[in-house]
Amino acid sequence: MDKNANIFVAGHRGMVGSALVRRLRADGYTNIITRTRAELDLLDQAAVRSFFASERVDIVLLASAKVGGILANATQPADFIHQNLAIEVNVIHAAYEAGVARLVFFGSSCIYPRACTQPIEESYLLTSALEATNEPYAIAKIAGVKLCEAYNRQYGTRFVALMPTNLYGPNDNYDLGSSHVLPALIRKAHEAKVRGESSLVVWGTGTPRREFLHVDDLAAATVFVLENEVADGLLNVGVGEDLSIREVAERVAVAIGFDGQIVFDTTKPDGTPRKLLDVSRLARMGWRASIGLREGLEATYRDFMVRYGSDTHSEAAV
Ligand code: GDP
Repeated sequence: MDKNANIFVAGHRGMVGSALVRRLRADGYTNIITRTRAELDLLDQAAVRSFFASERVDIVLLASAKVGGILANATQPADFIHQNLAIEVNVIHAAYEAGVARLVFFGSSCIYPRACTQPIEESYLLTSALEATNEPYAIAKIAGVKLCEAYNRQYGTRFVALMPTNLYGPNDNYDLGSSHVLPALIRKAHEAKVRGESSLVVWGTGTPRREFLHVDDLAAATVFVLENEVADGLLNVGVGEDLSIREVAERVAVAIGFDGQIVFDTTKPDGTPRKLLDVSRLARMGWRASIGLREGLEATYRDFMVRYGSDTHSEAAV
C-alpha cells in the first residue's frame, strides 16, 4: 500500500480510531486525515458529502460509532440504532460517490446470533435471533456489513468489514454508566484499592464468557488487511480464547493489586452467555493477535493511571 495514500480515519479520538492513527504513523503512513466532531459531524449528511467532495480521500477507516456497554445499550436504544445507521449511511455512500475505492468498516462480535455455536464463524451472521440487550446496536452494525457488501457487488468497491471481539486499551471509556466490563473493572478495582475497600462489585453472575482484544492488535489487523489487499467480506478479529467474567475480575484484581473480595450483583444483567470468535479466516491469511491479556491489562492500567491517577479519590475521575 502506498505510504502516501490519503487515509481518512473517522473517529480518530475514540479508542479504535486513535489506535489506528498511532499504528499508521508508526508504520510510516504520512497522509492521515482527521476531523473532530466539531469540524465534521458525521450525522450531518450534507456536511459529510461536502467533506468528501473537497478532500481527496483514497481510503476510509470508519471507526466512528456510538458505542457502550450493556447498561448504555439498555437505556439509549434509539441513540444506538439511529446514530450508527446515520454514520454508516452518510460515510459509506459519500465515500462511494467521491470515488473512494477502499474502506474498512468496524463492527462488533455482538452482530452474531445470541445462541451461536462457539467459536463463531463469519457465516453464522443472520442465522438466528440476536441478544436482546444490544439488538438495536447490532442491527445498525449488520446494516453496515450489508452496505459494504452491496456497494462492492453493485459498484465494484473494495469495502471490508472487520468484527472485533470486546476491545480494551488506551483511550477507553471509564464511565461506569456506559463503559464495557474491562474498563469498568479496572476503574472499580483501582478505586477499591485506593479507598481501602474490602470488596469489588461485579455485575451479573460472573458466568458469562467474553474474549478480549487489545485495540493495538485491531489496528495491526487493519493495516494487515489493507497491505494484503483484502478486497471484501466480513472478517472476525479476536484472540481465539475467552474467559468467564469471574476470571476477568480476578485477572484485573491481580493487575491492579486489589486483594479484597469479589462479589456479584445478580440484579444486573448477564447479557449473552458467550461470544467467542472463530478467528481462523484471518489466521489463514497470516494474521494473529499478539498482545496477551496480562501484558495488555498492565499497559492499560498504566494508561489509566496517566489519565486519571492524580484524581483517584474523586467520583468525577472520569
Ligand atoms: P457485552 O459484552 O455487550 O455484554 O457488554 P459489557 O462489556 O458491558 O458486559 C459484559 C459482561 O460483563 C456482562 O455479563 C456484564 O454483566 C458483566 N459485567 C460485570 N461487571 C460489569 C461492569 O462493572 N460493567 C459492565 N459494563 N459490565 C459488567
